[in-house]
Amino acid sequence: NGVSKPPPMPSPLRNSKFFQSNMRILVTGGAGFIGSHLVDKLMENEKNEVIVADNFFTGSKDNLRKWIGHPRFELIRHDVTEPLLVEVDQIYHLACPASPIFYKYNPVKTIKTNVIGTLNMLGLAKRVGARILLTSTSEVYGDPLEHPQKEEYWGNVNPIGVRSCYDEGKRVAETLMFDYHRQHGIEIRIARIFNTYGPRMNIDDGRVVSNFIAQALRGESLTVQAPGTQTRSFCYVSDMVDGLIRLMEGDNTGPINLGNPGEFTMMELAETVKELIDPTVPVKIVENTPDDPRQRKPDITKAKELLGWEPKIILRQGLPLMEKDFRLRLGVPKKA
Ligand code: NAD
Ligand code: UDP
Ligand code: UDP
Repeated sequence: NGVSKPPPMPSPLRNSKFFQSNMRILVTGGAGFIGSHLVDKLMENEKNEVIVADNFFTGSKDNLRKWIGHPRFELIRHDVTEPLLVEVDQIYHLACPASPIFYKYNPVKTIKTNVIGTLNMLGLAKRVGARILLTSTSEVYGDPLEHPQKEEYWGNVNPIGVRSCYDEGKRVAETLMFDYHRQHGIEIRIARIFNTYGPRMNIDDGRVVSNFIAQALRGESLTVQAPGTQTRSFCYVSDMVDGLIRLMEGDNTGPINLGNPGEFTMMELAETVKELIDPTVPVKIVENTPDDPRQRKPDITKAKELLGWEPKIILRQGLPLMEKDFRLRLGVPKKA
């Protein structure tokens, strides 16, 4: 009929995102605890291509072992305090050490990661028109004077304490997110994550759940930091990942609290771990660190209403899943 077929598309264009229906997703900090579980979930969807950028400070390639070499997966050794040039549709920005032992190790680096790292990812989002989600933290509420904490609460934070590189750093990161949103129209999402636990947590990172499980498996005393009546609420990692994806896919900028409202004292947690793993291990009261929040419990009304999300896994279901992972990694098989 005289109509000639168009010439075949040159391959660099065919590989470009403009000719693909796939969603290209960047996960910073994707080699870490929450990040690697998020990657597992995103990779389940065959339309997703996932790029992880991580400097391996607290994360490891091992957490992503099963995806290395997969055609829809890419791992880049990259520090987010340096500019990053990639073409993506969504950015999950998790890169930041989360445990006090690690974030206090080099506090100046922690604040650079929070401030310069978030600025770079926002610059990237602006250049490519990507939607960006920040994993902020319940620590932005500091030692809260309101209980439980709603998103409207502005917090009670020490600006010059040893935790400030982390909590003030995240507060600035939230400010940057909203300024880029208002000034440049960037699509933003902010999650305020409360204590999360599960397989792949660093064994010796000093967090309470990983400490107690490792101690019980090694037959050591469980170190409850004084007074032991301080509370936390623990969310299992698969629930957290589900919440993050719903937030990214939904229409609300947040900030939105994500966490499990089930509240426990550290003494109750120690007793539960003992009962589960080894009732004979002793509990020892040890000195606490400065500025330790006395109470923490999320108000997740907003997440329920806006995301239709609430955690499904209670502590007594989640702890045995973590125990299984820690037994494998510590080489302590369960007695028959
Ligand atoms: P994690 O330490 O396991 O993961 C953080 C990842 O970021 C690691 O893989 C680390 O190597 C990487 N990273 C750190 N600095 C980097 C840098 N400058 N450049 C590139 N990569 C860098 O911690 P996590 O528990 O998985 O936490 C993930 C996110 O969730 C963090 O932003 C943290 O602040 C937030 N968060 C976690 C919790 C929790 O209970 N785990 C609570 C509140 C908020
Ligand atoms: N940036 C980046 N990747 C990009 C675009 C920007 O890492 O694809 C960094 C850039 O180096 C800068 C930051 O993001 O330090 C903020 O970028 P923006 O364009 O908002 O600000 P400007 O470059 O004008 O200071
Ligand atoms: N904690 C404890 N024993 C430990 C480690 C921590 O009793 O071996 C306490 C700590 O004092 C705090 C709570 O557990 O009150 C949670 O500490 P974690 O560092 O896990 O989280 P965050 O303080 O960031 O909520």
